[in-house]
Amino acid sequence: MRKIAVVGGGMAGSAAARELSARGLQVVLIEKTKELGGNIREYGCKATEICTKCNLCLVDQILQEVQESKQIKKLYESKVRDLRGQAGHFTLTIERDGRLEDIEEVDQLILATGFTKWSQIEGGLPEVPPGTSRVLWASELEELLLERKDRGNIEDPLSLGYIPEKVVFLQCNGSRSIKERARFCSRVCCGYSFRMAMTLKKFYPELDASLFFIDLQTGGNIQDLSFRRLEQEGIGYMNCKPIKLKETESGLIITYEDRSTGKIEEVQVDLLILSEGMHPGAQNQFWAELCNFQLDDDGFLYPLEEGEESGIFLAGSITGPGSIADAVKSGKNAAYRIISRQGGDGNV
Ligand code: SF4
Ligand code: SF4
Repeated sequence: MRKIAVVGGGMAGSAAARELSARGLQVVLIEKTKELGGNIREYGCKATEICTKCNLCLVDQILQEVQESKQIKKLYESKVRDLRGQAGHFTLTIERDGRLEDIEEVDQLILATGFTKWSQIEGGLPEVPPGTSRVLWASELEELLLERKDRGNIEDPLSLGYIPEKVVFLQCNGSRSIKERARFCSRVCCGYSFRMAMTLKKFYPELDASLFFIDLQTGGNIQDLSFRRLEQEGIGYMNCKPIKLKETESGLIITYEDRSTGKIEEVQVDLLILSEGMHPGAQNQFWAELCNFQLDDDGFLYPLEEGEESGIFLAGSITGPGSIADAVKSGKNAAYRIISRQGGDGNV
């Protein structure tokens, strides 16, 4: 039976591993942390009365199946350190528990080592560091949403310690900026900020919520995200990029330039949520050198030949920013390309 190595146990890697094992292929899933799921483990449901289609529901089932599958060998806290051979005959050197060990040869590989959040990058902190009660990274708000089911605090469901009256979502943070080393759009933050704003407005009905934006990304699962839709949901918006943040006892003062008038304005808010650009994964350079891939101008991987030739397929945000649904789709796509070369049932 053929064996495939999947490197990265986030959504793309897990979706690929599930499809491969379901077609009878042996899979070795190599994950650098102690568990599957990647960044998505921290995300919480944003449904209010209705589902906001964040696609997190896709996640649990896939991760559970991969976790329980006996056909998928899981190597946790493991990293690929070397790769020798060619399509149909690769040997991977894996580091586990501080020791290098060769594992069995594999026929093909799927690389799905994901992205780095802007908040994890040195120099990513804005002037007022997140971690104060007034400034949260979007992923920190995700964690509060994730934990809320265990809390019975109806008045302050997110346990902020105060009832927020005004919140601003700072968009394109860590994206669309040469200074932030990311000229690209991260594709997901408009959607999740919109969902979070709707959720917060349900929790705190008097809340005044606004998006401070450079651009509005209208793709993904919220096809009709538009200024009109924001207005319908009672969410404000301002075309600007803040210049300065100052925390006072009564709140956070944001100084910004209103791009429609060119005037410098100030606003006081209770809470500022920072979107987090999706930057290239820390291992992209390593893979580029090891596998003879190109890095594009933004640092994402670009293969010089098709996976069918090289035996190495790419999945998920290793090639660029994308949503949960994109990650699942590209993981499945990589798996199907491998399966289709092996007569459908995985047997050659
Ligand atoms: S909001 Fe997301 S996690 Fe919640 S029910 Fe909808 S798809 Fe599932
Ligand atoms: S998805 Fe929206 S917030 Fe994120 S970088 Fe693109 S335009 Fe900016």
